[in-house]
Amino acid sequence: MERYVMHVTKACNMDCLYCYEEDKSSIYTWEEVREFIDALLKYRTSDEFGIEFLGGEPVLAWNLIRQSYEYLEANTKVNVSDYAITTNGTVLNDEIIDYLAKNKKLRWAASLDGHRHANQLRTIKNTHENSYDLVVENLKKLQENGIEPSVHMVTHPYNVAYISDSIQHLYNLGFRHIGLGTVEKTIQIDQEYCKRFIEELDLVSQKVINGTYLGLNIGQFNWLKPCDDVRTYIKDPVTGKIIGESYGRSGDDITYKQDYNVTRCEQRDDTWEMIHYIRKTVYDNHQKRLRGISA
Ligand code: SF4
Repeated sequence: MERYVMHVTKACNMDCLYCYEEDKSSIYTWEEVREFIDALLKYRTSDEFGIEFLGGEPVLAWNLIRQSYEYLEANTKVNVSDYAITTNGTVLNDEIIDYLAKNKKLRWAASLDGHRHANQLRTIKNTHENSYDLVVENLKKLQENGIEPSVHMVTHPYNVAYISDSIQHLYNLGFRHIGLGTVEKTIQIDQEYCKRFIEELDLVSQKVINGTYLGLNIGQFNWLKPCDDVRTYIKDPVTGKIIGESYGRSGDDITYKQDYNVTRCEQRDDTWEMIHYIRKTVYDNHQKRLRGISA
């Protein structure tokens, strides 16, 4: 299924030590955001697709998320199956909780790199405090209001050894949807990281198979991003701002349209190759275990 990423602000209230974001100041108007949505609607290759809101910290532009959601939901020709808000998890208020509780297609996907120690590179701007306490407090508030958030763990050489412990910790806190990512540009990963990543996820996989983690959904075990699924940024040629992202899955998505005036910036290098390798190994090992073949 097609999936598009919309950027609604580049501003952020955090200062993570591995932050990859070079532009942390651009903000967006509803006209700019709507123009991108209209382009998606025009160039879509299917009537059903997914949307992800990204920043900076997208929730700082909550009104744009809400307007985009209502604009797309009012369009009866398309069915957006899922709207993920990829957030640092620190910005939340009663109005947002209420809205999420009433609009379950909006999914809260907060970044939390595991237990407190594993999360130490995620720091709040100015105070430089670990975001762990605030994010967990907010995730609990969502759960108390019947909203099931997902947790996104960014892994890197400084927390890779804590992956299985962190997943146990998050499971104990009641979180059942966990995805893992790898830092891509700002901290170099190496073979040692890759080896440990696979070992840690193998430990988790064994526990999923033997029933320790009932109801736990680890994204990497169930879905493998295709090799040719290259992340492509879409830049506004006038302002230079990144306005969205797509994946070059079939060569016919929005970034390939000749009459859509944007700049494509592909990302595929040695790090990308390593990340694809570890994801594929983890996925294959888990699938073999599921089928009773020793991994
Ligand atoms: S939450 Fe952290 S990684 Fe994300 S944009 Fe803000 S500082 Fe960067």
